[in-house]
Amino acid sequence: MADWRKLGGKVLTLMSKVYHIPVLVKQVLEGLIVKPGGLYVDCTVGEGGHAKAILEASQPGGVVLGIDRDPVAVEIAERELRSYGAGSIIVNGNYSCIQNVLESRGLNLVDGVLFDLGLSSLQLEGENRGFSFNDDGFLDMRFDPNQELTAWDVVNRYPRATLARVISDYGEEYRADRIADGIVKKRPIDTSRGLADVVRSVVRRNLPRIHPATRTFQAIRMEVNRELENLRTGLSQAISILNKGGRLAVISYHSLEDRLVKYLFREESGPGNNLRLINKKVIPPSREEVRVNFRSRSARMRVAERI
Ligand code: SAH
Repeated sequence: MADWRKLGGKVLTLMSKVYHIPVLVKQVLEGLIVKPGGLYVDCTVGEGGHAKAILEASQPGGVVLGIDRDPVAVEIAERELRSYGAGSIIVNGNYSCIQNVLESRGLNLVDGVLFDLGLSSLQLEGENRGFSFNDDGFLDMRFDPNQELTAWDVVNRYPRATLARVISDYGEEYRADRIADGIVKKRPIDTSRGLADVVRSVVRRNLPRIHPATRTFQAIRMEVNRELENLRTGLSQAISILNKGGRLAVISYHSLEDRLVKYLFREESGPGNNLRLINKKVIPPSREEVRVNFRSRSARMRVAERI
């Protein structure tokens, strides 16, 4: 098992507070029309920020089923939501299997489903997870430690052309060929910092506060975790578990995610279909929210209703 898994317990006991500040909380509660006694699924429960807000707004009687692929996040969410007793059900799993997760708990249809994509501050800032540019630990980037494929495999084992395609497709990085060449020349690359350095040595920074390896890291993380495939399956399942009038809210952090959500919502909201779009345009955070929580800067939410 990976080192960070063992670290989980230590991180937990050291942390008196959760790191992660949930984004667009008020908009999520409004978008899902959270009401007392409702049943909600938080597909990316993370450190439990949104789940807690939904639980608060749905008392008395509200229930949140929270799912996360990351067992460390699950431990934290369990601890954070313990006071809600039977109101909170936390499950370590992939949201591409929501239907099974519900069925195995004797549940069927729900009033609202939330996806808050991307990664949590715990993952980004946690050591030995490999998600950040400064991480000197193993080049990991897995949400789920039981999965075999790691970022190390992608970076060191993929043929040059495949690596370039991953970086280009999932990073929307126009310098993908040059970056893939640079990586192949420097193999083996064992740490995330090593990878960030190689990318920096072959391409220049385009924007002042953005690291030149940002798009490459996004791409490799998406490949490792099969993020778009999971999202596609997860969204279809989410639609099928919603009550009539139930709401689906999705918060994306980059254009590939948002485009997938947009097209799926559009397809599903055609004549004779399952969804009605609630907002035509994406819901962004306020300027005030971006000021206090930098992570919210790229958040975009779409909401749809099951009909
Ligand atoms: N809303 C949360 C933060 C979510 S961050 C909060 O307020 O605390 C995104 C989370 O999604 C991460 O914890 C990540 O592990 C999880 N995740 C990513 N892909 C997943 C998948 N396919 N299934 C379940 N969880 C996933």
